[in-house]
Amino acid sequence: MKKKYCLILIILILFIFSACSKAQGEAPAIVEENEQQEEISENGNYINDEIPTEENSKSSKDPTLAIDLSHEPNELGEIMILMYHGIGEEETDWQRTPENFRKDLEYMYQNKYQMISLNDYAKGEIYTKAGYTPIILTFDDGRQNNFNLIEVNGKMVLDPDCVVGILEEFKSKYSDFSVTASFFLGTNIFGQKEYVKEKLDFLIENGYDLGNHTYSHDKLENLSGEEIQAEIGSVNNIITNYIQDYAIETLALPHGSNPKNEYEHFMLKGEYEGNKYETAAVLDVGWRPAYSPFDKLTDFTSLYRVTASEINVDNCGMNDYFKQYAENKRERFISDGNPDVVTIPKRHEKYLNMDVVGDKVVNIYE
Ligand SMILES: [Zn+2]
Repeated sequence: MKKKYCLILIILILFIFSACSKAQGEAPAIVEENEQQEEISENGNYINDEIPTEENSKSSKDPTLAIDLSHEPNELGEIMILMYHGIGEEETDWQRTPENFRKDLEYMYQNKYQMISLNDYAKGEIYTKAGYTPIILTFDDGRQNNFNLIEVNGKMVLDPDCVVGILEEFKSKYSDFSVTASFFLGTNIFGQKEYVKEKLDFLIENGYDLGNHTYSHDKLENLSGEEIQAEIGSVNNIITNYIQDYAIETLALPHGSNPKNEYEHFMLKGEYEGNKYETAAVLDVGWRPAYSPFDKLTDFTSLYRVTASEINVDNCGMNDYFKQYAENKRERFISDGNPDVVTIPKRHEKYLNMDVVGDKVVNIYE
């Protein structure tokens, strides 16, 4: 038994050492397969006395060996956080038609974008499959057209042309499409007061996220610390009254207005009527894609968003960026498929933020 523990320790130390030295760019990104096999056979024993096959010995020792570089993974590329508001008959600055929203989703699916949750982005937990680009959908203001119920044969059912209806449609249409979105709420929670709990339960059970859009939708720059706490805390309390055990960790700034510097900490942490809150990610009203969560340039208290519209976007709308990525004029995040490994091209190495990378394995390639 002692021998076994010793072996585990040695492997652990070797593993940590290889991860650290790679982070500093001193070791080659890919460890030679032969070296690895020698380490094991020198010790003359295997964990659990299992003789590993070539495949599982590779991935259990060094997960970077299983990364397929032919996808050209780039986990320091950009991620778009799309800012939607409403869905309705007429296309306006702040409203997309159901038909155009379906077009957006179809484009994402056909062009290797996969939706991820803003909460996962904020934690640097990227589960996107290899070769695909994460994208985040956000909806502000809690409009009824985001989540509408209609009566059919005396029963209340999901409106197929509201945001959630269309997202669920795509979930069934493409089983390999990861469908999710974050809804930023104030006091109006999708209209239809009698169905608020039902709707919130549905969202949580079906993998959507909820964020805070403040109580009165006022500009935070005009408010005191106490008022900011009330703006954020009261909405959290309203929502957790409906769904216990759900922590709201994200905030979309009304009008993109930041608090005065001295009150900024109230935006990130505070208490209202005995309930504490903590904010992991704050969204601006944006005009450009966000950086990767692993990028030193990312400021989680002020994340860029891209307007999901084609009207008055000044060449900075969603379709402008989709086009630039398609033409390789900008670099999009391309996942390596392993949430525990951060794979980046060497040219971006200096941007890697090890505080966010944490204990993930860094994999750098030329
Ligand atoms: Zn708003």
